[in-house]
Amino acid sequence: MSHKTRLLWTVLSLLVVGGGIVLMMHYPSSNAQSSNQGSTSFATGRGGADSSATFDAQRAFNYLRQICAIGPRISGTEGMKKQIAMVKKHFEAQGAQVELQTFQAKQRSRPQAVEMTNLIARWHPERKRRIMVCTHYDTRPIADQEPNPRDWTKPFVGANDGASGVAVMMELAHHVAALELKVGLDFVLFDGEEYIFDKRPSEEGGDRYFFGSDHFADEYAKARRQNPGGMEYLEAILLDMVAGKNAKFPYEGHSAMSAGRLVEKIWNIAKELDCKAFVPSWGQDVLDDHLALLRVGIPAVDIVPSAPRNRHILPGREADFMDYPHWHRLSDIPENCSPDTMDQVGRVLMTWMRRAF
Ligand SMILES: [Zn+2]
Repeated sequence: MSHKTRLLWTVLSLLVVGGGIVLMMHYPSSNAQSSNQGSTSFATGRGGADSSATFDAQRAFNYLRQICAIGPRISGTEGMKKQIAMVKKHFEAQGAQVELQTFQAKQRSRPQAVEMTNLIARWHPERKRRIMVCTHYDTRPIADQEPNPRDWTKPFVGANDGASGVAVMMELAHHVAALELKVGLDFVLFDGEEYIFDKRPSEEGGDRYFFGSDHFADEYAKARRQNPGGMEYLEAILLDMVAGKNAKFPYEGHSAMSAGRLVEKIWNIAKELDCKAFVPSWGQDVLDDHLALLRVGIPAVDIVPSAPRNRHILPGREADFMDYPHWHRLSDIPENCSPDTMDQVGRVLMTWMRRAF
């Protein structure tokens, strides 16, 4: 490393540290402000729409069980088709307009393309100013963190990594009407996040990640170019593994760097509601579906249980990166998930949605 680049790195690190300090310094003031709002509208549970909108964590957990009961939901398989039918019916019954955004995807290591489907459930579809909650809903074809390769192809149900975000949204759907939103709301379920058979990095010829979110983002960018005054996403929250027992959600690195204001908003709400799973410190940089949204200009934050930033991850120990011991293992089952974690995530999201713009 030359002196010049070292200088550049020093400046960059100062900026990063500085950004972190700014983020921290905002806590006391904006918190005082929002807890005032909380005491009149949410924290006390009094008052019209709020009291009728209570996240039912047990019902959310039952949805998680129902999704896992389908079995694996790998892209392009019967299991995924069953899940699409179930989720579509559920969101329509709760008043959403559902679009299936279908496309063909050819994975490098596979001989044939498969059909993939992003599911978009819209409330107030006529509103141009919109917010989004999203997650991936496909499951891993190979449980590659199992130590014995013989276990890799056994049925993997992805309770936390696959079902949890969908289950939280299924429960949230019951409350959308009572939230009296000021903006349009979309729940977006991405296909093709886990469709990995060859997990070498893509630069080295490995499989491609994020088919669904990339396709969705490209379609959105196209629509924005064709109609610049049309529909626009103001904010997006990505849920990934939001049901693990004793989960800890620190700031995900890309979210904090590229959508710092939204990170601050979400973790402030969590503090106000005493949702301790949201930890106000830096986590790892996680490559996830929010990167596609950030690429097309949507402020997007990933709620994901990563390890503290200062944990040194040794080569071959990727599992230490995610703060969930059952990650990509056959033990990622409902019994290792918790209604309490889902409750905290659900309540933070409801307050964010209610206050949106
Ligand atoms: Zn995964």
